Amino acid sequence: MAGDRFDVIIVGAGIVGLSSAYHIKKNNPDMEVLVIDRANTYAQGNTAKSAASIRDLFSEEVNFKLSHSTIEFYKYLNSHGNDIGLSMVGYLFLLRSGDRRSDILRKLASKTKIRFFEGDEIDTFPGLKAHPDSDLVDLMGLSNVDEGVLGENCGTVEPELISQYYYEESKKLGVEFMFRTELNEFTLAPVKKIDFPGEPFLWQDKIIGDLQTNRGPLHADTYVCATDVWATKLLDNTGIDSHIRPKKRQIFQLSGPAVEKILYGWKYNEQHVIPFTILPFRAAYLRPAPKFKSIWVGVADDFNRNFDLEDDPQPERDFFEKSLMQIISAYYPDLSDAKLTGSWAGYYSYNTIDKSPYIFRDLNLIVATGTSGSGILKGDGIGRNVEAILSGKNVVKLFDGTSYETDHTGLYKRTTLNEEIVL
Ligand SMILES: Cc1cc2nc3c(=O)[nH]c(=O)nc-3n(C[C@H](O)[C@H](O)[C@H](O)COP(=O)(O)OP(=O)(O)OC[C@H]3O[C@@H](n4cnc5c(N)ncnc54)[C@H](O)[C@@H]3O)c2cc1C
Repeated sequence: MAGDRFDVIIVGAGIVGLSSAYHIKKNNPDMEVLVIDRANTYAQGNTAKSAASIRDLFSEEVNFKLSHSTIEFYKYLNSHGNDIGLSMVGYLFLLRSGDRRSDILRKLASKTKIRFFEGDEIDTFPGLKAHPDSDLVDLMGLSNVDEGVLGENCGTVEPELISQYYYEESKKLGVEFMFRTELNEFTLAPVKKIDFPGEPFLWQDKIIGDLQTNRGPLHADTYVCATDVWATKLLDNTGIDSHIRPKKRQIFQLSGPAVEKILYGWKYNEQHVIPFTILPFRAAYLRPAPKFKSIWVGVADDFNRNFDLEDDPQPERDFFEKSLMQIISAYYPDLSDAKLTGSWAGYYSYNTIDKSPYIFRDLNLIVATGTSGSGILKGDGIGRNVEAILSGKNVVKLFDGTSYETDHTGLYKRTTLNEEIVL
């Protein structure tokens, strides 16, 4: 395929690249679309590392629209016989009184299904110690759980199954894929070549030129950079800023009888499985994984966590034992008897300004990154946004019938406000 000319080449076959490929080809059937990835197959990057919880609980308007419409699309797929591992177990925020997120969630109750708990009801949540021991409160600064807010239009999916859906549907539509194909970097080329060493010069109009890969050069009219945290390095040489930084995130899998006591027995969903649960302190979370009779635990640790990007990030046992589990077991004491049966680490592509996706076009390149820990749950909407930009539309139309202007997630007329609910 090297040497062929494509209308669009998408670099990156994670959820963002796959959803973009699907929506581009579906809306532009005559376009020749190629997706390349350096991995052996699709969804091997951060998509594979995800907790893959889905929620439409966001303070920022565009984030709400992206997430809500994506969830509606996933529900539609599920109800039409596509196994994407969807489980609408809910998303439970355990909050101390006065937490600002309570006000935000109360406002969202007019847009999506939310249930509120307080007092005795909270004491019935399996395994939860709503008032942690006072010595721990003193030592660690823990807060009590005064309120529970359950997003009912929320849950979990399996990222490999969602990715498989987009991959297979894209292939059926005629999208081509090249794996084990690594882009060195995006490079600038002059629109009108003069074949003089050193071009493009300042005075020449520029485009992104052919892609130099380990399998030879590839050519397209338009390129999409869907390489998540790796976008920065690939773009630096062009002078285009991706505006994101990598943050390592880890997940630890807990199993055993102590876990099963907490995992099952929840009264407020059909599955009787604990919802994705966020603790009131440092937003440490529990993610149900009933397929493995396990609970996954993790946290968005911002301070102390540098912006290094390693090739093969590893989970840190020390962090698990001395930091994360100290918080988890203060609220769920039974979990101190759990067995650690797995762990992994990946990266958030963090938009450190407003924690919302960046999807913009510069020259003949569309960049889609900055998913800030919510690329799975916004995956369908982001793909539609990329397609809208590619097709020159001013408005992104989402699956649930809502819309917003393409500029809103871009760089120059960006309107997104700071997202206040980031995990
Ligand atoms: C621990 C953890 C928990 C998370 N939990 C959630 C959650 O609960 N809900 C949620 O919605 N999101 C969650 N996320 C975030 C989510 O996983 C990401 O937002 C999402 O996967 C980003 O998708 P992507 O396609 O942009 O990136 P990726 O899946 O990383 O895809 C980028 C692709 O680009 C390829 N690539 C990179 N460089 C090159 C190159 N030079 N040449 C060719 N190919 C290249 C990579 O191989 C990779 O396949 C979590 C992330 C982590 C790490």
